[in-house]
Amino acid sequence: MSGRPVRKVVIAGGGTAGWTVAAALVKNIGSLVEIVLVESDAIGTVGVGESTIPTARRFHELLGIDEREFVRATQASFKLGISFENWTRDRERYFHSFGTVGRSTWMADFQHMWLEARAMGVAGPLEDYSLETQAALTGKFRAGSGEGSSLNYAYHLDATAYGQYLRGFAEPLGVTRIEGKIGDVRLNPESGFIASLVLDNGEIIEGDLFIDCTGFRALLIEGALETGYEDWTHWLSTDRALAVQTKAVGPARPYTRAIAHRAGWQWQIPLQHRVGNGLVYSSAHLSDDDAIRLLESRVEGEMLTDPRLIRYVSGTRRASWNRNCVAIGLSSGFVEPLESTSIHLIMIAVTRLLQLFPFSGVNEALAARYNDLSRTELEGIRDFIILHYHLNERAGEPFWDRCRIMEIPDSLASRIALFRESATAFQANDELFRIDSWVQVMLGQGLQPDSHHALGRMIGAERLGGSLASLAANIRQQAGSLPQHQAFLDAFSPQAQPS
Ligand code: FAD
Repeated sequence: MSGRPVRKVVIAGGGTAGWTVAAALVKNIGSLVEIVLVESDAIGTVGVGESTIPTARRFHELLGIDEREFVRATQASFKLGISFENWTRDRERYFHSFGTVGRSTWMADFQHMWLEARAMGVAGPLEDYSLETQAALTGKFRAGSGEGSSLNYAYHLDATAYGQYLRGFAEPLGVTRIEGKIGDVRLNPESGFIASLVLDNGEIIEGDLFIDCTGFRALLIEGALETGYEDWTHWLSTDRALAVQTKAVGPARPYTRAIAHRAGWQWQIPLQHRVGNGLVYSSAHLSDDDAIRLLESRVEGEMLTDPRLIRYVSGTRRASWNRNCVAIGLSSGFVEPLESTSIHLIMIAVTRLLQLFPFSGVNEALAARYNDLSRTELEGIRDFIILHYHLNERAGEPFWDRCRIMEIPDSLASRIALFRESATAFQANDELFRIDSWVQVMLGQGLQPDSHHALGRMIGAERLGGSLASLAANIRQQAGSLPQHQAFLDAFSPQAQPS
């Protein structure tokens, strides 16, 4: 496989993926390549994808995006993590924060000390040892370093406004936008590479490298190149979501809520001007009509839109980069939205593409490296999400019973066994989620280790209890000194409407 030097990149699709890719390419290599984006207003975008993770901030810094301007334009609020409610059993909750939990030493991570202290009766709940969790649960927030520690945070944003914002960023830098519906994708008969996109109005758009951002339609990577899809429904069996927007009923919480129900879970994402809600479910366990009724019975606040049904199949394209086509966004696959990783995957995909960009022509080695890195990262995320479903105690509910007894990937089974036996967690190479994340979710989902490192025992109850107590007091004091999230937001983004 080889191609001619890449002088023109054609991006098919203008959702969050298309415009994120356009913005990153034009900002970084716009002086070397021409960038064209084709999108169809008539088709529109998926319209969801409003909760992010902290890597979004790093990506924005790479682009030189002004945070205040971005928060105002996308009606964003700040996010410190996710509150998982009813996941083990009804009325139980745990928090997955973006911050660190406690203080680890070179010999043993914090959970070992905490487990020992708990056994000695001198530990508080795990949540007491995370600043982000304490700030979130008391509705506090401040961006920037200020006094004391700075918070690790992400955003809740309006998906449509975000696409428009990135478009406003990319177009002045030189991206050419073409409005039209792609009717056909033409291949070069000799190389099998994509030669051009043909629009319904007859316009032909040629290019050297094509980025498929056409969402679930996957017009190029699948429609034209028939790359194939690896279905992960046997592990991640939710396949539908109903999305609805509601009026806020109180100040914006600085976290996403993920609330389990009998056949899936419900999200609540507070923005400045409204709340995004959705019900994720398995259609084998809940009918669409019942799902609508369930959603309507659970949303807080007046509904501003009708519930919109979105179907999906969790899984991944067999290769995201195939010939001269790179699929980014939903066209490359989708691992259900539980840990809000999809926008991150778009940002990391275009960052990786910039690092491996085929300036002198598409070649197999670059594509293989790109595909390897993408797959490793995605499989780590997949395992992390399966973990939430698998470790549940919602006995007697067919959806959850199935999740509990299903076979899980070996990579996850060995991680769970390691933690169960020894309280040891790790972050593999190129893996997104840190040890703190694995520990919060494993303990949060009720996985009780049989043993842990002896460092805490050597420290002794008195010293260990004392140091945990002073850590918790320090965190409480720091969280207490932060402004209320809504007040911070109102001052940070003056158009924010106090609820
Ligand atoms: P789309 O938004 O579908 O865009 C596709 C584009 O292709 C559109 O511009 C469309 O007009 C164009 N197009 C398609 N066909 C043609 C054609 N024939 N001709 C011309 N143009 C065409 N991600 C997160 O990070 N956090 C979340 O909280 C989150 N929640 C989600 C909840 C659900 C239920 C789902 C399904 C996804 C969620 N995601 C989330 C994922 C997130 O929505 C997507 O990753 C993100 O919106 C990117 O979508 P996209 O740009 O790939 O596709």
